[in-house]
Amino acid sequence: MPRRATRQVQVGRVPVGGGAPISVQSMTTTKTADVDGTLAQIYSLAGAGCDIVRCTCNEVEAAEALAQIVPRSPVPIVADIHFHHRLALAAMEAGVHALRLNPGNIRKPDQIKAVASEARDRGISIRIGVNGGSLDPDIAQRYGGSTPEALVASAVRELDYFREVDFDDVKISVKASSVPVMIDAYRLLADTVDHPLHLGVTEAGPPPAGLIKSVAGIATLLAEGIGDTIRFSLTADPVEEARAGKQLLEALGLRERTSVDLIACPSCGRAEVDVIAVAQAAQVALAERNIPLQVAVMGCIVNGPGEARDADLGIAAGRGKGHLFVRGKIVRVVPEAEMVEALVAEAEAIVAEGIEARLAAADEHAEEIANATRDELLQIQGHDVNHSDERAVRVRSRADD
Ligand code: SF4
Repeated sequence: MPRRATRQVQVGRVPVGGGAPISVQSMTTTKTADVDGTLAQIYSLAGAGCDIVRCTCNEVEAAEALAQIVPRSPVPIVADIHFHHRLALAAMEAGVHALRLNPGNIRKPDQIKAVASEARDRGISIRIGVNGGSLDPDIAQRYGGSTPEALVASAVRELDYFREVDFDDVKISVKASSVPVMIDAYRLLADTVDHPLHLGVTEAGPPPAGLIKSVAGIATLLAEGIGDTIRFSLTADPVEEARAGKQLLEALGLRERTSVDLIACPSCGRAEVDVIAVAQAAQVALAERNIPLQVAVMGCIVNGPGEARDADLGIAAGRGKGHLFVRGKIVRVVPEAEMVEALVAEAEAIVAEGIEARLAAADEHAEEIANATRDELLQIQGHDVNHSDERAVRVRSRADD
């Protein structure tokens, strides 16, 4: 999908916009003044695929802590500034890579320009982070509330202050908790400025609803080529935000796959195992391993390997056994109780040796055993276990009546 052309800004070593890979952001939930606790969370976020981490800078102690956090962080740090422009100046002194300013919170032009001037001199980028819930009251009044036009007007006014002091190293967000408002605001903003955009649905809430709202807003815009960096704002462990962001970009083909893509059949009358339980166990076992493969969990050997023939690897159940297949070819048969363990071991072997080597190492009897199991199941269950053919006959006769 073609991306919207933007200028590029740097957040430390991470480029944003201008053709750079779309980055994933999240925010720590610790007190920033707790240096060790905050660093531990930053490391967890980086391990989950987060490219940029934001920390609140809401008090002097937080700004002081940032001076210790930034040099030890594995990823660039953005300071989130609340109300006091002096904390923005202090955060820059602490060495942060970027700032986030909310135009609804710091409103005095002189203060805004003082921060922008110092950011310009230090080579630090700023995100103008407009938020529907904390919009500048005079703009909200002029536009009749937190409309898309109001959100964009707030961002443009802040940008104008920055331009007065020759500073335009800026990315922008116009977040709202309403998905349709957020989508319209970003579309309007994309037509108005050429700055990179940071996407997010604010206060999306806990999963699964928070995930669904975030995906609805962020994915819609990404599919239109809009968006250069993203954050899921979930009421959850921020590691979940980072994982969700990374998985969304991988699912859309916007970032190279580094983690497993687990697919599973929806189960049906043919299922020979509890597909939900096996899929969940496989998800947990594979999640921590950064295995960039598509792995399938299928409920039966009758249709499983065929339905998932495009997966790199999969397992299909039948008559107390797990039939392991690589690109649709049965390579090994294991007891049902060892299905997940065997799946993980084969995934690791593929990563280490490659698909061709694993196909060459297939057990020569595996295909034969799978065929025998399939025949046995067809004899027991019949060819039409879901009664689809019978139903089709009935449907036809009703339609002909
Ligand atoms: S036919 Fe087999 S693989 Fe397909 S949905 Fe049913 S149990 Fe799953």
